[in-house]
Amino acid sequence: MSAERKPPGSADYGNLYELLQSHFPAERAHAFIELEDGRRYSYGDLEDTSGRYARLLGDLGVVKGDRVAVQVEKSPEAIFLYLACLRAGAIYLPLNPAYTKAEVGYFLGDAEPKVVVCRPESKGEIGEIAGDAHVMTLGTDGGGSLPERAHDLTPIEGCVAAEADDVAAFLYTSGTTGRSKGAMLTHRNLGSNALALHEAWGFGPDDVLLHALPLFHTHGLFVATHCVLLNGTAMLFLPKFDAEAVIRLLPRARVMMGVPTFYTRLLAHPGFDAEVCRHMRLFISGSAPLLEETFHEFKARTGHIILERYGMTETGMNTSNPLNGERIAGTVGFPLPGVEVRVCDDAGRPLATDEIGVLEVRGPNVFTGYWRMPEKTAAEIRPDGFFITGDVSMIDARGYVHIVGRAKDLIICGGFNVYPKEVELCIDRIEGVIESAVVGVPHPDFGEAVVAVIKRTPECRDLTAESVIAACKAELANFKVPKQAHFVDELPRNAMGKVQKNELRERYASD
Ligand code: AMP
Repeated sequence: MSAERKPPGSADYGNLYELLQSHFPAERAHAFIELEDGRRYSYGDLEDTSGRYARLLGDLGVVKGDRVAVQVEKSPEAIFLYLACLRAGAIYLPLNPAYTKAEVGYFLGDAEPKVVVCRPESKGEIGEIAGDAHVMTLGTDGGGSLPERAHDLTPIEGCVAAEADDVAAFLYTSGTTGRSKGAMLTHRNLGSNALALHEAWGFGPDDVLLHALPLFHTHGLFVATHCVLLNGTAMLFLPKFDAEAVIRLLPRARVMMGVPTFYTRLLAHPGFDAEVCRHMRLFISGSAPLLEETFHEFKARTGHIILERYGMTETGMNTSNPLNGERIAGTVGFPLPGVEVRVCDDAGRPLATDEIGVLEVRGPNVFTGYWRMPEKTAAEIRPDGFFITGDVSMIDARGYVHIVGRAKDLIICGGFNVYPKEVELCIDRIEGVIESAVVGVPHPDFGEAVVAVIKRTPECRDLTAESVIAACKAELANFKVPKQAHFVDELPRNAMGKVQKNELRERYASD
């Protein structure tokens, strides 16, 4: 251990695995993952399996800094594989199982992994695009060539030494326009954020987490999994979100992390009530804006006040509503310990309280840059270290951060700026509206025109575009009022529950 390194328990320790391991329960037979089908994995299993997988990676020639690309379904073994990569000093690169062969081809070409792990059924397809990489398979039932080949190997001892600034993972941004960028996250980025969240959310010895999130995204892979590992307690593991299963498991859990869609789906289920949540300590929401209506309905139904936080692939988590203070609907709370935030104009000049601009973030959580894209990195990280998030925001007089929209979602109509969130909030207040999305579409005169897409309740099928427009006119400046309103059964969302505005822009481009 080099002299400047801090002891285990600090994000500067070096390999993130050592930090996590220093929090494992002394009794390694303690449960780490429990599934509904009765499968149970202890902390001892975690150490053994990740140690054997790390041995196999080494045998395949993986050395520190090599990439391991993983496109598999959610399973406990996928978590062990992530931990094996940390232990081997490799860079873990998770890929959404929904990506097509062409999309995966781009990621593999860009990242040049040494090993690709895929679903058994995709082996042929991935083999065609994997170049020189070793292709291994991993199934949801714990089968596949990776576990089979690792079965009789001797686990490695400990882990490969890493510096805090070594890259631990690449997460490709979920951006739906332009080329996806590989955000390089270091051991320090992940470790510091894990420690901050574990403390901010008051994790303690009784906290069992209900894990229903995917494992290819920062939320399920890092936020949820690291909090459990730092806590040395168990998670109840669902292959995917399913309201029925969540309702069955909540009485055994204490903490749940979800995207807003989880909460709206639970509220839509007649079996979801205060009794089901009786043992729960905390519900956390993030990855997309939580509607104020959902926040209030959840409180009325269960007595629980959802804690909303805000983060992104490049930074991990930045802000959170307080555990012990007032959690305010429509805000994402205060910066986490060690994280600085400011709202700036386009030139990077800080704005005053209540002024709207783009949120910038600095701290040990902020990534080191985009893989092989120095220009993009330089364009998004200012010389003083602040990362330009692209989220249009405002900080109020009490210090709560409000996310108003994405900079690229900003609509400029006849030279006037329209923040979609403001129009959406106005529409969401109309009787019979469940939720709405507001986008800009090309307009010959104004440059862009405001268009609203609305999901309404079955009882309010007679709600018309004209009445929505009239209601907006009563509250908003004329340039903000939608020129058109469309009704849909569902708003298009990606796997993390984010409304896909690009899709809506394309769909209504010829309006
Ligand atoms: P991703 O990199 O896929 O995690 O997406 C990050 C983006 O999700 C952020 O830049 C925000 O635009 C959005 N986001 C995450 N959490 C929230 C939240 N609590 N409220 C509003 N937007 C959010």
